[in-house]
Amino acid sequence: MTAERTASAVQREGQPSMPQVAYLNGRYVPRAQARVRAEDRGYQFGDGVYEVIPVYSGKLIAADRHFERLGRSLGELRIAWPMRRAALEIVTREVVARNGIQQGAVYIQVTRGVAPRDHKFPKDPVAPGLFVTAKRTKPMPAALLREGAAIVTVPDQRWGRCDIKSLNLLPNVLAKQAAAEQGAHEAWLVDEDGNVTEGSSTSAWIVTGDGVLATRPNGTEILPGVTRAIVVDVVRDLGLKLELRAFSLDEARHAREAFLTSTNNYVLPITRIDGKPVGDGKPGPTAQRLRAAYLAATDRVPS
Ligand code: PMP
Repeated sequence: MTAERTASAVQREGQPSMPQVAYLNGRYVPRAQARVRAEDRGYQFGDGVYEVIPVYSGKLIAADRHFERLGRSLGELRIAWPMRRAALEIVTREVVARNGIQQGAVYIQVTRGVAPRDHKFPKDPVAPGLFVTAKRTKPMPAALLREGAAIVTVPDQRWGRCDIKSLNLLPNVLAKQAAAEQGAHEAWLVDEDGNVTEGSSTSAWIVTGDGVLATRPNGTEILPGVTRAIVVDVVRDLGLKLELRAFSLDEARHAREAFLTSTNNYVLPITRIDGKPVGDGKPGPTAQRLRAAYLAATDRVPS
């Protein structure tokens, strides 16, 4: 195989044909060589936050909303911006450009920085740690879109500030693993009252038998999903009925439709919950319509 053919074959598989570049604490570095200090509080305590921004045609989608949420997460934990927001936006776009990403996502991770291990915040201010990476995403498998997603449910074992996009994802990791082990795409988290909070990395929605959309209102129990917020706007523009309220797992099981929203999944119909069909077991018309409307609202080609 010639070098040229090898490169294009690799690219077709969704892998970068050139070494990936990350931005780490002030420098662009080959991603494989990015090293953080062992005493970084992100490593020691999970003391940090992150943000994920979709990339389409090489551009950031809904960048303002994502940087707003990053600022909010940082503020709630009293971690300083690692650089001025405008500068971080430039670095973020530069990481996307240097990796030649057309369609994918960019990850920004900020920690409270390096200090000798002590639970309390460092007395003298230290520079926050900053790590920015980007990845290509493959188009969603046609079968998943055609058939809809299967999800499972697990108890929500998270803490009381799920509105902060913190690095502490252990319950989410375990939930997603449980889903994967059961051949499902996602796990919905269910609180002690039997209500669905959200997915392990997605926001949760249903359409009731009366055709009313429901999704949990923002609060400390869920991450304020950016996709969710855009879909809420889309729903209102379309004049559909929407209730921002909690719904129970039982209600979801008997709903006409269920779907999830996230940066990486857009709007994805759910057709099975814990192995049982939702509605007629096929992707619902409302979810499909919202997927197209969401992509149009964010200047993307429907997929
Ligand atoms: N909830 C959780 C717990 C998440 O991790 C995510 C993904 N960031 C979402 C919801 C969806 O948020 P967004 O639409 O901003 O990707």
